[in-house]
Amino acid sequence: MLSSIKKRLVALSFLLFSILFSVLGLFLYRQIESLLMASVDGHLHSEMQLIAGFIDSENGHFEMELSEAEVGEYALPLSGHYYQILSGSGEIIARSPSLSIVDTHLPPAARSMEPSYYTIEGPDKGPLRVMSQSYALAGGSITIQAGETLDETYRLIASFRNMIIIIFPSFFIFSLAGLTAITRFSLKRVDSFSEKVGKITEKNLKERLEVEGVESELRPLAESFNVMMGRIEESFEMQKQFMSDASHDLRTPASVVKSYCDVTLMKDRTAAEYRETLEKISSMISRMSRSISRILDVARLDSEAFSLNLSRVDLKEIVIEAMKYFETKALSSDIKMTCSGDSVILLGDRDRLSDAISNIVENAIKYNRPEGVVHISVGEDEEWAVVEIADSGRGMNASEVNRIFERFYRIDASRGEEEGSGLGLPIVKRIIERHKGKIDVKSEVGRGSCFTLFLPLDIE
Ligand code: ADP
Repeated sequence: MLSSIKKRLVALSFLLFSILFSVLGLFLYRQIESLLMASVDGHLHSEMQLIAGFIDSENGHFEMELSEAEVGEYALPLSGHYYQILSGSGEIIARSPSLSIVDTHLPPAARSMEPSYYTIEGPDKGPLRVMSQSYALAGGSITIQAGETLDETYRLIASFRNMIIIIFPSFFIFSLAGLTAITRFSLKRVDSFSEKVGKITEKNLKERLEVEGVESELRPLAESFNVMMGRIEESFEMQKQFMSDASHDLRTPASVVKSYCDVTLMKDRTAAEYRETLEKISSMISRMSRSISRILDVARLDSEAFSLNLSRVDLKEIVIEAMKYFETKALSSDIKMTCSGDSVILLGDRDRLSDAISNIVENAIKYNRPEGVVHISVGEDEEWAVVEIADSGRGMNASEVNRIFERFYRIDASRGEEEGSGLGLPIVKRIIERHKGKIDVKSEVGRGSCFTLFLPLDIE
């Protein structure tokens, strides 16, 4: 339900505002209530002082002086302003005309030298605040009670309460509406982002989110998205390129096979002619199947699911095996292969490393000159196991060296001359990278090339 940021923000603010406004309203209400009560109590206290002042006079003038307090509100019946004086034994010895005219009195208070304040129902049935205090007199004590109606105070408190009940919710509703508008405005950019992102398909992968003038909170998101789109676009282009190169690579031998068949079938042939055609077809099919397995290798090495089957392997052993494998091929071109260095043990995937080294050794023979040499050395330094494969072949210029690890890249001169797919070195690179290693290539046109593989001695 609250999966939308806007709704969540508004709901949370609603909750927060409700709590804040309720607490603030309650606090203000309590403050006002206690202030007003304190003011009533203060007034009662002054009245009490006044009445006590009359009584403190000489005993003989008690009645006469007290009559000075029997004016104003005290003189009006049930006016809400009362006083009453009790003798030490609790009898009423004097009271304000506001009580005596209607012959009523306040509930007598207990004797206490400390002033006490309390609220009762007054003689006029309204709320009455009463202060009572006892005073010691010569030969006894008296208790004075002064009362003041709380009607006005309660009316003030009620109107303040009503004000809170009306003003706060309206203030609250306005702030909520403002907050909703602000939230909607602030998230407008997110809406425009999602609208733009929603329109991106494989046909418009070049689309990017604007970064200039974007709010600082959203800029990293837009930048990361653009970087991600760049990577997706690049890999999408690579996939497209790969598909088209792969189909091209397979289409050529397939059309050669087709034309062999068509030409052979044009008329009756001798058994020898059929044999010759079948041999050509078989060689083409072998070339295609090699290409297919290379394409599959590339796809497999690209997939994240591809994992290395690690074990302790001896690089020298792998190199010797590769040399043995290509011995016949080297001999047929009068190429001499030599190897130096001791065993180097490291953690690696034996089959994959063997694929990588074989590939480079095969190239060193393939792109060599007749009676050339291939020298392989195996060694190690503190960090790396190093395999160096040097040949005396035709070499490559710098721009060619920069491109040989691209898929399907073959130097023009080698096209047609030597069989190949242009997938060998990209596979080598991927295998070495998976081993957290690196490849260095040095080459000079007409003099030869040297491929150096660096493999970490411990890849864990
Ligand atoms: P291929 O199947 O064509 O051998 P690779 O990916 O193994 O594909 O090599 C890519 C290209 O790099 C080759 O076509 C070749 O032109 C060039 N190349 C690779 N190794 C050498 C080498 N030792 N000497 C000269 N050129 C080389």
